Amino acid sequence: MMTKANLFFCLLILFLFVMKAFSQSTSSSSANSSSESVSHETIQVDLNGEMKEQHVSGPFQFSEHDDAWMRKRLEDRFLKYVQIDTQSDPLSSTVPSTEKQRVLANVLLEELKSMKGLKNIDMDKYGNVYATLPKNLKRDVLSVGFLAHMDTATEISGFNVTPRVHRNYKDGENLMVDNLKIVDYKIDGKELSKMVGHDIVTASGGTLLGADDKAGVSEIMTAIEFLTEHPSIEHGDIQIGFTIDEEIGKGPHYFDIPKFSAAVAFTVDGGEKGTYNVESFSADLVTIVFTGFNIHPGTSFGRMINSMKVAAKFLDRVNQNMPSPDISKDRDGFVHCLDMNGNVEKTTIRCILRSFEDSELKQYAEGISKVIDQLRSEHSNVTIEMNVVQQYRNMKQVLDKYPFMELSIIDVYSALNMKDIVSVPVRGGTDGSQLSWMGLPTANIFAGGHNFHSQSEFVSLHDMADSVKVIISLAQTLSNVPPLPIKGH
Ligand SMILES: [Zn+2]
Repeated sequence: MMTKANLFFCLLILFLFVMKAFSQSTSSSSANSSSESVSHETIQVDLNGEMKEQHVSGPFQFSEHDDAWMRKRLEDRFLKYVQIDTQSDPLSSTVPSTEKQRVLANVLLEELKSMKGLKNIDMDKYGNVYATLPKNLKRDVLSVGFLAHMDTATEISGFNVTPRVHRNYKDGENLMVDNLKIVDYKIDGKELSKMVGHDIVTASGGTLLGADDKAGVSEIMTAIEFLTEHPSIEHGDIQIGFTIDEEIGKGPHYFDIPKFSAAVAFTVDGGEKGTYNVESFSADLVTIVFTGFNIHPGTSFGRMINSMKVAAKFLDRVNQNMPSPDISKDRDGFVHCLDMNGNVEKTTIRCILRSFEDSELKQYAEGISKVIDQLRSEHSNVTIEMNVVQQYRNMKQVLDKYPFMELSIIDVYSALNMKDIVSVPVRGGTDGSQLSWMGLPTANIFAGGHNFHSQSEFVSLHDMADSVKVIISLAQTLSNVPPLPIKGH
């Protein structure tokens, strides 16, 4: 039986295909136009017997001038943001995990306040920043959110970052700062050779750059500024969110989805230009406890039962029978036993199970259970208990119910002439996978950075400008989608 929701989405998809056909028929005629939104077609809509005009725009055509403006604004913002240390701390028990994240949050608040027409500009008690660019249409349309995280990775220092802009990149060059090789062409040449003529930003050695995800923060800010200055670009309510503690996996728990007020959202936190993510791992945690019997070793004959001996056998057999992360890639799943703590009396092993398919996670858990059964029959005097806890699920299961999100990403990337459009499955969890399951369907689009969490991090200002165009075009395209319920409203 077709449910009401299913029927709605079928209608929605039909609507999007009609819009797609429409935009293709109009975009060709507008190929040689300049800055402003072109190919306006006026259709007559009969509302309560009254004839009203409604403008339906084709995709906005960005000019060279827009491009240069975006790069300049991005450079100013990005260089400023990366010099504010916002590293999060996995060992902290406060929220946010580091107070310094609020420093950037306050800078963003002030900037948002200086832009024309934004509403609901606020920081919550955890340090998350929210703002709304209200719709410029009369009709009710989808409320769309854009999110980026303010914190940076925990592995490498974000203190005293000195960004450098390498102008007009020439193929074959390393990116050097004062005789120090920050990016090696031998390693990253494939990516660098796509950036000939670009201005590329790196740090100066010894620190992160922080493009993950201050590139995303700068891009959202610049897109919103552009929209406030180009009111001819139609859009629904745009919700802006800058979040804390993504790098330690705790951000979404403290993000106020009803306050954010978007029906769907995009994190701007992906890597290379042209990529996007609508799929993440599903994840379970398995804890196995081996209980033996301890007694003074001098008088232990026939009585001591060493739990570690059995635990060691367990590890050995799991590694023989199941894929581990060091031999897994692309769409492979794995079983990763990450720690083992214990003594003669009691040993605990924790293993994480990861796969894009829930059914495979089940197989892994069954495989572990089989190994345990074997060990129980060989060591009847050792008690072995196993406990499986669900950690998170593939966001695709949620996003499949909103097919227009992925379709719009592909549409917008194609309209901006991107060559390698690739959906990259995320071999981990993201803020998006958590938010999607918390009631805010969230896909991830590229922010343009490379070599995340490394001293060799780099990002092209030209690619960042393309990300700005993606955000603007997504907002415009999705203004053709009718409203959807917002969680908590
Ligand atoms: Zn990130």
